[in-house]
Amino acid sequence: MQKPNRRLENQTCIITGASSGIGKAVAKSMGMEGGNIVVNYNSGKKEAEELAHWISENSDCGQAIVFKCDVSKESEVKAMFKKTIAHFGTVEVCVANAGIQIDHPLHEMPLKDWQKVLDVNLTGQFLCAKESIIEFKRRGMRKGVSKSLGKIIHMSSVHEVIPWAGHANYAASKGGLLMLMESICQEYGPDKIRCNSIAPGAIKTEINKDVWSTKEGAEGMLKLIPYKRIGIPEDIGSVASWLASDESEYINGTTIFVDGGMTCYPGFTTNG
Ligand code: NAD
Repeated sequence: MQKPNRRLENQTCIITGASSGIGKAVAKSMGMEGGNIVVNYNSGKKEAEELAHWISENSDCGQAIVFKCDVSKESEVKAMFKKTIAHFGTVEVCVANAGIQIDHPLHEMPLKDWQKVLDVNLTGQFLCAKESIIEFKRRGMRKGVSKSLGKIIHMSSVHEVIPWAGHANYAASKGGLLMLMESICQEYGPDKIRCNSIAPGAIKTEINKDVWSTKEGAEGMLKLIPYKRIGIPEDIGSVASWLASDESEYINGTTIFVDGGMTCYPGFTTNG
């Protein structure tokens, strides 16, 4: 287990889609850094409650609460921020992590499945970023807590730059996220708001279990990873905590790829 640390002490962190996978690991890591954690879930109430309990028990100084909300619904996102501010006073960190995949060949993709993925993966991230910025600006700088007014971390994907046949809705949502993140950086950097993305490669979670849980699937994944290891959620959790902390204060408007080298085109290792 990660040693308790204090890099996010007195800071409140909302993590969306935190009842499983990467979001859960980010919430645990930020909790162990002393942050107060809002474990957002849309499904997986029991897992979310167990996680919040674990954080409150194991963190040196942070507490955790759960909040059910569909990030694609504006009224629910607003309610989550309202509850968080009422409970913890404010928000310093938002990790917009919730995401889904609904795959089809493009010519067979129903409009509803295109729309659903865009609604959660892009509009949901916009809504969380918007409410974060409103709260950061309302609250103002808290000297001695963080050098930034607030930190937004978008959970993107290597597919913000790698095209993905059969997954055009997902790749389009993550490509859109790159421009959302960079535009927020440009617009709110002068307010000392930091906005960055993390782009995981292949990480063992529910979203891709059908691939890594079979021998052929896992071997196929490894061919795409120069480091020859499939990632685990904790690989992302530790980076997210560092990116939210003052140790990375001068990082703004960047995507950090956490992918074992997947974006280095391993298919060209033997001359393509
Ligand atoms: P996951 O399926 O375990 O996690 C996704 C979470 O989002 C779930 O807890 C789910 O309940 C939640 N969610 C879905 N719709 C929601 C909604 N409308 N409102 C609130 N929450 C909602 O998979 P994961 O791999 O942990 O995915 C987390 C993020 O990481 C996603 O944005 C995904 O695109 C990204 N990602 C994952 C990988 C990977 O290899 N696992 C790679 C690149 C990017």
